[in-house]
Amino acid sequence: MILNLNEKNMALGCKYCIKGEKLVLYITGLCEESCYYCPLSENRKGKDVIYANERKINSVEEAILESKLCGSKGVGITGGNPLLRIERTAKYLKALKNEFGSNFHAHLYTTPTFINENNLKILKDANLDEIRLHPSKLFENCKEFKEFNTKEFLEKLILCKKYINDVGIEIPGIPKFEEEILKLASDVEKIGVNFLNINELEYSETNYLLLKERKFKEKDDVSSGILGSEKTALNVLKKFKGNLKIHYCPSSLKDGVQMKNRLINRAKNVAKPYEIITEEGLLIKGIILFKKIEDISNIIETLEKNNENFEILDEKIYLNSKALENLIENLKKENFKFNFSAYISEYYPTSDKLEVERIPLVTKKPNIKLKKK
Ligand code: SF4
Repeated sequence: MILNLNEKNMALGCKYCIKGEKLVLYITGLCEESCYYCPLSENRKGKDVIYANERKINSVEEAILESKLCGSKGVGITGGNPLLRIERTAKYLKALKNEFGSNFHAHLYTTPTFINENNLKILKDANLDEIRLHPSKLFENCKEFKEFNTKEFLEKLILCKKYINDVGIEIPGIPKFEEEILKLASDVEKIGVNFLNINELEYSETNYLLLKERKFKEKDDVSSGILGSEKTALNVLKKFKGNLKIHYCPSSLKDGVQMKNRLINRAKNVAKPYEIITEEGLLIKGIILFKKIEDISNIIETLEKNNENFEILDEKIYLNSKALENLIENLKKENFKFNFSAYISEYYPTSDKLEVERIPLVTKKPNIKLKKK
């Protein structure tokens, strides 16, 4: 479900997220907290690795390239906890701001643990626009609201306000915690915090068992949302009487809209002239596999005669999938003896080019010679 949220409920920077125009920069998978609901995937959790969107990277140049390919208008720096790698965070942030200018909006997620004058000064010098604190200790125990040190948390937020323009908090919508979230919203509004983001609680490959142990249930068969989380978030939006901006982010918005738009943006920049971009942002192309170039000289001739866009690389011809289908159909009518194989490939426009579907059009049988015993 995509909610029709009004202006009051939109968090700063969200317009870029929804359009898929924010680079998601995982600066490290390391984190000192151990939230039972942490959805970080196996290949990132606890590992000191960097990802720019879905691409594993090792340099600022790669982060800049990924931003360009995705048409990013800003960056969301996340982890793990980016403050555990503060120098690296500042280096990447400065490089992105230098490349794309000061309007390249940058927000950063972290916990209060490493919020101190020194780290905030480094972030300010790197031109961070917005910081989002996740009060992880608050939700340690899902049965009763953890008696956490509100005073200390509020002090950390006040300290953030001294250095960073926009300060917000980001929490998971733990079912039935609406009264506690409402209280938190009132407390942070009084000290001038700019917004509260509530994310729909969702399961992943890494937190599924921990959520099950705590008796959480799936909302439905189509999303990864947890039953009751959305209701809690919407009740908070309905009941809150203050002026603090409260924004609810359903899991379907992240997976279905933000991710899709990001893929479409990247697909537009990386697609070859013969590739088709699907509504989901995937790419489709036709592929002919051959052994010797002489075997397909007549195919090349036909493609050239028809002014088709194609390219030949590593014993493969890449071409438009519809052109390939027509070609095969015509050859079949002529009872052509196929000496190549051909298929249509649908894949992600990401750096790993993960293939999601392959439709065979011609399958050439392998020439197997059986040895006599
Ligand atoms: S603070 Fe964030 S990254 Fe760290 S364990 Fe909690 S949810 Fe995971």
